[in-house]
Amino acid sequence: LETINSIKDLKVALSAERARANTIGFVPTMGYLHEGHTSLISNARKTNDIVITSIFVNPLQFSENEDLNTYPSDIEADTTKAINAGCDFLFTPSVSQMYPSEQHTSKTKINVSDLAKSWEGSLRPGHFEGVATVVNKLLNIVGPCSVYFGEKDFQQLQIVKQMVSDLSIDASVIQCETIRDRNGLALSSRNSYLDAAQKQQASVLYQSLQAAAKLVEIGESDPSTIEEFCRNRIISKIDASVDYIGVVDPKTLQVPDKIVDEVRILAAINFADVRLLDNIGCSPCVTK
Ligand code: AMP
Repeated sequence: LETINSIKDLKVALSAERARANTIGFVPTMGYLHEGHTSLISNARKTNDIVITSIFVNPLQFSENEDLNTYPSDIEADTTKAINAGCDFLFTPSVSQMYPSEQHTSKTKINVSDLAKSWEGSLRPGHFEGVATVVNKLLNIVGPCSVYFGEKDFQQLQIVKQMVSDLSIDASVIQCETIRDRNGLALSSRNSYLDAAQKQQASVLYQSLQAAAKLVEIGESDPSTIEEFCRNRIISKIDASVDYIGVVDPKTLQVPDKIVDEVRILAAINFADVRLLDNIGCSPCVTK
């Protein structure tokens, strides 16, 4: 594995790979890698000649009251995990490498309208603009054939797909399933803020999503009934506040009047001072 922190050096190395007709799979991350991240790397490994992972905690997507300065980091452990998952290049640029201007920002910002307004977007103003801008920049730097994103961040995934399509970016966006611990809690770098007992309790989030999905599958077609059910189940079991539960069309992220087709149930809660996100897909059972 080669670790590179300059954009110029990375472009040189990847041009050489492209000249050898090697396909490139790319996994963007913010580091503190866990099995969710390494599953993306392993997926990329299966179908590409070269796999590159980036580790960059992008200031553009954090607002002032968020955990930019305390975001967990362990580059040594990440390097070992990336090697074990089959990564060839680790791209670890500094903030000044990515945003050389004095203010360490990008004057050009990507705004994926509509999809970025709801759910996470309405609670974290500017977040998805920061995400789309850095992903666009990274795609321009790396020029991959395929780029890998987790379903864990479902709204982010839809936004990236929309941006790649709208801007005719020459990469396939590969959607990868959420990896969970044995109790069902979706792995996340921020889970490191929780102790073992809290992690166990936090698994109520996914269990509630599963129960809500079951309701959809047995024929409940009212999105607000599903939403209320899921919300009540969470707050009756753990001391959490619910930011939102959304029963949405997976492409538009809009709430349908009635559930007649596949939906995604999106959820964000605050538990033990940690913001937890998760989601589940489900469809009404077709009765003949
Ligand atoms: P992050 O480092 O949190 O920005 O995540 C980098 C990538 O890993 C994103 O595409 C995430 O959706 C994905 N990811 C994070 N957690 C998981 C998980 N538990 N399972 C699958 N993918 C994940």
